[in-house]
Amino acid sequence: LSRLGVEKGVMTLVDEERHDYLLTHLQGSIHQRASGGSAANSVIALAQLGGKAFHSCKVGKDEAGVFYASDLNSAGVDNGLHELEDNHGTTGKCLVMVTPDADRTMNTFLGISSELKEQDIHFDALADSKYLYLEGYLVSSPEAHQAALSAKKHAQENGVKVATTLSDPNMVRFFKPQIEKLLEDGVDLLFCNADEALEFTDQSDVNEALEILKQSAKQVAITLGKKGAVFFDGDKTHIIEAHPVKAVDTNGAGDMFAGAFLYGLTQGYSYADCGQLASFAAGHLVTQFGPRLYGKAIDELKAFHQQN
Ligand code: ADP
Repeated sequence: LSRLGVEKGVMTLVDEERHDYLLTHLQGSIHQRASGGSAANSVIALAQLGGKAFHSCKVGKDEAGVFYASDLNSAGVDNGLHELEDNHGTTGKCLVMVTPDADRTMNTFLGISSELKEQDIHFDALADSKYLYLEGYLVSSPEAHQAALSAKKHAQENGVKVATTLSDPNMVRFFKPQIEKLLEDGVDLLFCNADEALEFTDQSDVNEALEILKQSAKQVAITLGKKGAVFFDGDKTHIIEAHPVKAVDTNGAGDMFAGAFLYGLTQGYSYADCGQLASFAAGHLVTQFGPRLYGKAIDELKAFHQQN
């Protein structure tokens, strides 16, 4: 850890014993625990804005799994975790360390989430939805990849739009064929950050990467951190300005952007309004610690949303 140069860290989503140990050794000043994963962060954002979301996932019947189910429920996200399966698997965890310049390093133990299978997908809820949102980490195990492909097929057969995110440049580096398979015959909307876009397309310029990504998705949003984002709507490209803020933790910024953008689309907002809402939500998120908004920050997001 010292090699990473992390002297003052902030951690989210860890189990209690390791948590105390690491907290001491990292001399972290703040810690938080939250349910997560890229898709969970996004659907929580969508629910916080007033949208209806269902999250299919896989956790164990352990303390972290129980926490995960109740945390999602209290965030307003429906899920299939009413009766946790006695599957002897350990719930996945991710240790997120945040440096004073608001950047983050993650250490992930996938646990039983990598065993997500087709039967873990709630196909009824899916057929009733406007969008299926697939996170990029689904490509990291054969079972989860197959589950994602089945969910995509089911969505397309039922007239549900398909959105996905590349989620992580390392996923792109190590699982490119699986991502290409997921994007085969296209998706409706693809989210990625600049690093993921460049890695996936093997380009050094975001505009060139965008041109290539247009072959895989009808619409593409590339987020550019504090420089905002670009969104190709299928016809023209929109520049989305970042919200001018002082960032303390950028963990979950892309997830928040995607969740708020999708919320706007499901409400029939113009692309400009979707971009403005997503930018405000993600900008707001990075001014506080952790991958999601709490309390007063949710009220501020709703107030912005209602005023605009
Ligand atoms: P990811 O979290 O996937 O790496 P980005 O870092 O590109 O994604 O950030 C996603 C969005 O979050 C940006 O498009 C922007 O709206 C917002 N954002 C991120 N960092 C900042 C920042 N320092 N200041 C303002 N907004 C930011």
